[in-house]
Amino acid sequence: MRRIDLLVPDLGDFKDVEVIDVLVKPGARVAVDDALITLETDKATMDVPATSAGVIEQVLLKKGDRVSKGSRIVSLRTDDVEGTTVVASSEREQPYVETVTLDEPTITPVTRQPGKGPAAKPAPAPQVAGKPPEKAPAARAVPPVTTSGAGPRLVVIGAGPGGYTAAFRAADLGLKVTLIERSPTLGGVCLNVGCIPSKALLHAAKVIEEANSMKEHGIAFGTPKIDREKLRAWKDRVVGRLTGGLASLAKQRKVEVLTGAARFVDAHHVTVGDDKARRTLEFDQCIIAAGSESTRLPGFPEDPRIMDSSGALELPDKVKRLLVVGGGIIGLEMACVYEALGARVSVVELTEALLPGVDRDLVRPLEKRIQKRYEQIILGARVEGIEPLSNGLRVSFKGKNAPEPHLYDRVLVAVGRTPNGKTLKAEAAGVNVDERGFIRVDKQQRTNVAHIFAIGDIVGPPMLAHKASHEGKVAAEVAAGLKRGFDARVIPSVAYTDPEVAWAGMTEAEARQQGIDFGRGVFPWVASGRSLSLDRDDGMTRILFDNATHRVLGAGIVGPNAGDLISEVALAIEMGCDAADIGLTVHPHPTLSETIAFAAEAYEGTLTDLYMPKTARVAQER
Ligand code: FAD
Ligand code: NAD
Repeated sequence: MRRIDLLVPDLGDFKDVEVIDVLVKPGARVAVDDALITLETDKATMDVPATSAGVIEQVLLKKGDRVSKGSRIVSLRTDDVEGTTVVASSEREQPYVETVTLDEPTITPVTRQPGKGPAAKPAPAPQVAGKPPEKAPAARAVPPVTTSGAGPRLVVIGAGPGGYTAAFRAADLGLKVTLIERSPTLGGVCLNVGCIPSKALLHAAKVIEEANSMKEHGIAFGTPKIDREKLRAWKDRVVGRLTGGLASLAKQRKVEVLTGAARFVDAHHVTVGDDKARRTLEFDQCIIAAGSESTRLPGFPEDPRIMDSSGALELPDKVKRLLVVGGGIIGLEMACVYEALGARVSVVELTEALLPGVDRDLVRPLEKRIQKRYEQIILGARVEGIEPLSNGLRVSFKGKNAPEPHLYDRVLVAVGRTPNGKTLKAEAAGVNVDERGFIRVDKQQRTNVAHIFAIGDIVGPPMLAHKASHEGKVAAEVAAGLKRGFDARVIPSVAYTDPEVAWAGMTEAEARQQGIDFGRGVFPWVASGRSLSLDRDDGMTRILFDNATHRVLGAGIVGPNAGDLISEVALAIEMGCDAADIGLTVHPHPTLSETIAFAAEAYEGTLTDLYMPKTARVAQER
């Protein structure tokens, strides 16, 4: 009879690894490759398979134990195995077998599937106890999944919220990742010249506004003294902390970061850099996350006083009069900042409405507030020409509501963003780019070339950081071999204006267009104790429910912190909640979040915080 002990193999960098499952019992028959135990490191889970067939005599460890290379797993009674040597063991009554025939492990990435715990992952095959015999082939040290190890290379182009998320997730899943970014810092538009600096400045604007509004209630701070240099420095520090944090995260994950512009050479190579220093990189898979840039309007003169959003975030001095071209999200957020800092702001919007595409009732409180404060809001018009003069930019307008020409210190052009698809030589890799520069993808974020993925702004609207990062995770997981797809029901949007406007899911206009039988649950914030205590009564929460199922179709919230509140509705839609689920969920009082429950109650006819006519209530009590 032969008895062998199967041992934990070389785990590469890992020692003292937790046994999270023991998969065999004494008496069980195991075949070669049957998993014996599951180990979990902070990077991966792995099953340790048997290298010999036989019957388990004894299990030598238990769940929760910590093991390293050489720890004994089981003792096994086995048949003769080729390439094994029988050695006498002084400590044992019977000889035991020492084998060095190790199987090449198949390494698959770690994943947690809902309700299934960590997925089993084949891992290094266990060694067998004892010294290898002289003639036997040397035991191959089989590294576990590491971020720096050899293996297929994933190249990620662009380090915005899409690209860095994809790179980090892929590294966590064991892929060897190279992240290429043309800018000196990571973080893309969002961190460097988008979401984060704009929100820092919007916070400054909010502080000014709130302090000012308390003047009428007995607390006066006087006119704010604005030190632009200090404000800029603070904003830059906020950005720096985040982009620096990303660099550390990349390092910790052993993600290789290359600085330089990437261009495709073919379907498996990119060049990085420019004529001065260029290198070529081979990849097995690639994720394109090259984002977008501000759309330029043709025919405008080259003049530094005509800015895009990045220029506006630099807070130039002496802007007494600003014209914002485009009444979309960027235009209205930046208008809010500049007005709070003391500029006279005008907005010109091509369509008949600010924030086109958003339901009018949601935009109205914002419109009402800014109409009183801004110099002009010009709807249904566009800029016809800009004449640069020494004392300003003379702007003429065209359209049915076009005003007379006007002089401004600065013009901010915020008329949308153009994807960077045409800048990558993607055609060399066979990747289709449409005439606008978008790269179309399937639900797994694959382009028409299966091993090349694309994510974020470059694949289409909505151009939002949270969409990019979710798509990044999907692409990374698919690249690592997991079965994943982007199947979010809703992607919430927020304009961080004053008041904030947030929406998720179906708009009322869409519901009407599609002929859906829906009802509205509306709660005006004038009845919210929390809102009044914030000195604001202009907000509203409005949820649309499907009358057949009472499930949430979509929602809009306008008011302070609407952007934080909308997540509850997004979750409700993802979870298929109905009005009663939301209304019966106890919300803390007094909070703005209550307005979501009240809107659901308003739809259900159970709301007590407002008087609802009996007919409305009865209609709801079906
Ligand atoms: P990006 O962030 O654009 O990153 C792409 C990266 O790729 C860039 O760093 C670029 O330098 C790099 N790159 C491009 N080409 C190459 C190449 N050939 N080689 C190497 N690198 C390359 N979204 C929100 O969700 N919330 C907000 O509050 C918000 N505010 C915004 C405010 C402003 C002023 C702006 C302009 C945008 C804002 N956005 C906001 C939008 C958000 O910034 C984008 O949706 C998001 O950054 C897109 O992420 P991405 O990863 O697709 O691309
Ligand atoms: P946008 O598409 O939101 O708005 C552009 C606006 O400009 C539209 O209303 C459009 O009708 C108008 N316009 C177009 N051509 C015009 C012209 N010639 N004259 C006058 N108006 C014209 O684009 P944006 O504001 O530049 O922002 C780009 C994208 O960045 C947004 O769509 C959004 O995805 C993202 N972003 C998001 C946030 C956020 O989430 N808070 C903030 C900023 C930007």
